Amino acid sequence: MRSKVIAGNWKMNKVLSEAEQFADSVTGKLPKDDNVEAIVCAPFPFLPSLVEKAKGSKLKIGAQNMHSEDNGAFTGEVSPAMLHELGVTHVVIGHSERREQFAETDDSVNKKVHAAFNHDLTPIVCVGETLEQREANETMSQIETQVQKGLEGLTDEQIGSVIIAYEPIWAIGTGKSASSADANQVCTYIRNIVKNMTSENIAEQLVVQYGGSVKPATIDELLEQPDIDGALVGGASLEAESFLQLVEAGT
Ligand code: 13P
Repeated sequence: MRSKVIAGNWKMNKVLSEAEQFADSVTGKLPKDDNVEAIVCAPFPFLPSLVEKAKGSKLKIGAQNMHSEDNGAFTGEVSPAMLHELGVTHVVIGHSERREQFAETDDSVNKKVHAAFNHDLTPIVCVGETLEQREANETMSQIETQVQKGLEGLTDEQIGSVIIAYEPIWAIGTGKSASSADANQVCTYIRNIVKNMTSENIAEQLVVQYGGSVKPATIDELLEQPDIDGALVGGASLEAESFLQLVEAGT
């Protein structure tokens, strides 16, 4: 049985003192249940402190991006080795905001996914269609391209340990969530793409999250779907109480 994985993506929100308060409020209250994982993907400056505060608790700490190279002349960038040494366990790769605003491509996503595995980080690879693509019936072809190119060259075992987050761009921060049935249909499709790239066994291990306006009020219905194994949550992950409710829903 796959675990449920609830990951908060804080984006560019909070200051360090607020991040620390959040950690102090949630670490002691997370469900002990082994079937649910709780991750917070935070801005770089908060990571050392959050990793320290999360020690001995169920909370795992992720980054929201990284460079694909180990080091070098890349002013302003953060390497996978830096994250790994801090104790960060996960990294969001190819969020649509990075694809749209910071020119990330399937090729750069693929390089970063390889780099994550080279440094023992679990990549949370984001895929999703725009509203125009959905209306033109291009959702599935867009998803297929992003999944195939994003995971190109990985071993089957690596593919089985990737987390894929299906985030329809029109549902992010809009309050307009995909219906749970529509979200599940795409998540099933993603699992099938992975099955064709690897095997049925690997596809069954794969964790596929949904993201886009997920809230405590909508999480139960999403997690009841057979191919939705968790959520990548922006706005509703910022408050300790609502993050705890989302994680509780995974138990
Ligand atoms: P919202 O939950 O705020 O819609 O954000 C979703 C998202 O982009 C998570 O990565």
